[in-house]
Amino acid sequence: MTSEVINSQDLSKVDPVFGQASFDNHEQIVFCNDKDTGLKAIIGIHNTVLGPALGGTRMLPYNNEWEALNDVLRLSRGMTFKSAITGLNLGGGKAVIIGDAKTQKTPELLKRFGEFVHSLNGKYITAEDVGMHTEDMDIIREVTPYVTGMSETKGGVGSPSPITAYGVFMGMKAAAKFKYGTDILEDKKVYVQGIGSVGEELVEHLVNEGADVTIADINQERLEEVRSKYGVIIYGGHDIYTEDMDIYAPCALGATINDDTVYRLKADIIAGAANNQLAEESKHGRILQERGIVYAPDFLINAGGIINVYAELENYDRQEIMRKTENIYNTTLEILENAKINNLTTHNAAFNIAKERIETRKRENSK
Ligand code: NAD
Repeated sequence: MTSEVINSQDLSKVDPVFGQASFDNHEQIVFCNDKDTGLKAIIGIHNTVLGPALGGTRMLPYNNEWEALNDVLRLSRGMTFKSAITGLNLGGGKAVIIGDAKTQKTPELLKRFGEFVHSLNGKYITAEDVGMHTEDMDIIREVTPYVTGMSETKGGVGSPSPITAYGVFMGMKAAAKFKYGTDILEDKKVYVQGIGSVGEELVEHLVNEGADVTIADINQERLEEVRSKYGVIIYGGHDIYTEDMDIYAPCALGATINDDTVYRLKADIIAGAANNQLAEESKHGRILQERGIVYAPDFLINAGGIINVYAELENYDRQEIMRKTENIYNTTLEILENAKINNLTTHNAAFNIAKERIETRKRENSK
């Protein structure tokens, strides 16, 4: 049998989009291509019941299109529940651009991408994510109003990362209150994995509170930079999941709680900024629950960024942004208690509330 025949047979068995494991009744998936600028992008619109689908654009050199599609499906779904649990009138969407942000991102490519966003007439509103910056949003704004997170000089709210970090800090404190009876993090051993824009800001909050912080990153320069700024410890081992710690703060990649790590992790609490921290939400959420590890749901505690950009649409000020973000503390505590009372995983407790809000609005909309 030739490889061509095998491939065509395999393809006939796999539904390339609607059959993907990460496909979860997404409303619309838009594939964008432009030969002149080299743009290859996918916009995922998961759900627009609560409002327009808002979510950042991520630019990464994905190994293949499957990886990119899988990422946009998972991330856009996550945005639906993040906005719903935070009480925002927004749906869930996300976009990925396939390419290296350092070498392939040009103003022309960004504008072409902006034109695709514009063609959706506001059903999807973009923002920054990994590989994108505030200045990139300013460029996209030249061709479409359906973008948030522009520079403050252009009337935007600037980078979402400091607000995201503040929300994660609030969620972490709530988890500590739940686990230890006090939210004071002084002397707590916290491992921050990934010290990019959010991770570094989180380190600052933790150091100010007197926590005992260890940082891990694949970027040695960043590690040295953050150590010299805050006097924290750089992780020198090879397997962070076997270290004794009080709090694990994943602030780099998703799916770090997986079959390989979930039984080894020696933390009391997981609270970090990364999206989709549980490789399999139900299974790994349940194992954490059984092991007595308090997991502060990622989509709940990392919502500071979306609260920040939502201000551009709703015209609320900095004070209101901070008030809404600080409220992540109360919501997290309520959800952790709700999970305990109802014997649910913390992920499911948060997810059920978000889902119910969407279902209620759907019923109201259809009246
Ligand atoms: P970033 O790109 O600025 O930082 C990520 C950091 O993680 C980098 O320093 C990188 O070197 C490091 N890293 C990558 N792989 C690693 C690995 N295997 N081990 C250790 N470190 C590794 O990203 P960011 O804006 O700080 O966001 C961090 C995470 O939080 C991302 O998953 C992002 O999707 C999520 N998030 C960010 C925001 C926001 O406002 N920026 C909002 C919500 C969620």
